[in-house]
Amino acid sequence: MNLAKFARRGYVTTPTPIEYVPRFSKAVGADINIYIKRDDLLPGTGGGNKTRKLDFSIADALKQGADTIITCGAVQSNHCRLTLAWSVKEGLDCHLVLEERVKHSYNPEASGNNFLFQLLGVKSITVVDGGSNMMAEMEKVAEKLRAQGKKPYIIPGGASNSIGAMGYVSCAEETLRQLFDMQLKIDHMIVPSGSAGTHAGIIAGMIGNNAGIPVTGIGVNRKKPVQEAAVLKLANETLERIGTSARVDAKDVVAFDDYVGPGYSLPTPAMVDAVKLLAQTESILLDPVYSGKAMSGLIDLARKGYFPKGSNVLFLHTGGSPALYAYLDTFRA
Ligand SMILES: *Cc1c(COP(=O)(O)O)cnc(C)c1O
Repeated sequence: MNLAKFARRGYVTTPTPIEYVPRFSKAVGADINIYIKRDDLLPGTGGGNKTRKLDFSIADALKQGADTIITCGAVQSNHCRLTLAWSVKEGLDCHLVLEERVKHSYNPEASGNNFLFQLLGVKSITVVDGGSNMMAEMEKVAEKLRAQGKKPYIIPGGASNSIGAMGYVSCAEETLRQLFDMQLKIDHMIVPSGSAGTHAGIIAGMIGNNAGIPVTGIGVNRKKPVQEAAVLKLANETLERIGTSARVDAKDVVAFDDYVGPGYSLPTPAMVDAVKLLAQTESILLDPVYSGKAMSGLIDLARKGYFPKGSNVLFLHTGGSPALYAYLDTFRA
């Protein structure tokens, strides 16, 4: 697909590694070979998936003459951390609107990404209740800034619109090229599914390239039918923006909700086990909110026989490890 015609800032400088994890595969004990696409190693402060999306989103902001970026996320948002980080690099002001998805969860003294918001010099943080209309809240901030003569540009939560999702179409294409170079046949891909741009972009890229690699999403928040509808809609909007005739079908979109536990960002015992197992077999750090829960899903599905014996399974590691430092008690317990 021709992504070269879209403005981009060039934040993704090299393909991220695809790493075989034999000790972890053996520990999972389901007779499958697990590979990890290391998007946790993407450039940008602390790494992680939002860099690929912001490569397109911030290019669009600059094209429109913006001098200020506004975005939103949860109180430990990796997306907010990376939007702020790339804004700093670009010389743009950055304002954040944080949603308390868990009541009273915002603590200005908290560690993890929250500490990095301060360290990177965020211009302002507005905290709103869980379930708020985040677009409307960001628009309020934009209105104030416009009155001060600023030119704000709003990036939606997770940069999950058809602009940001192109970053993950590009990741699918990068992955296919790497698999060719490695002469590696992957039978199944597992991706975390949150604000949906990552999952939508990967599936759009795989379907658009007739890759024949099924993709399973592991939801971290919404119920299965709601998440699948969001992924399907965004995948097709993205393909439309790119200008290809390919479309994703509802049957190609799977986003399990079995691994969310009590709710978004709330720890589960299986998440803790998954984070510890990968750390202690392969020295790779997952995160408590996304990649840890997604890996707990991969482990459970593998042990239930979801992947035929001998399968090569590729896990997309979307990053997020700075959030670990806001969850010390969870891991020490
Ligand atoms: C945002 C995020 C995700 C989910 O990606 P979406 O595009 O929002 O679905 C997964 N992992 C990490 C670490 C994230 O920060």
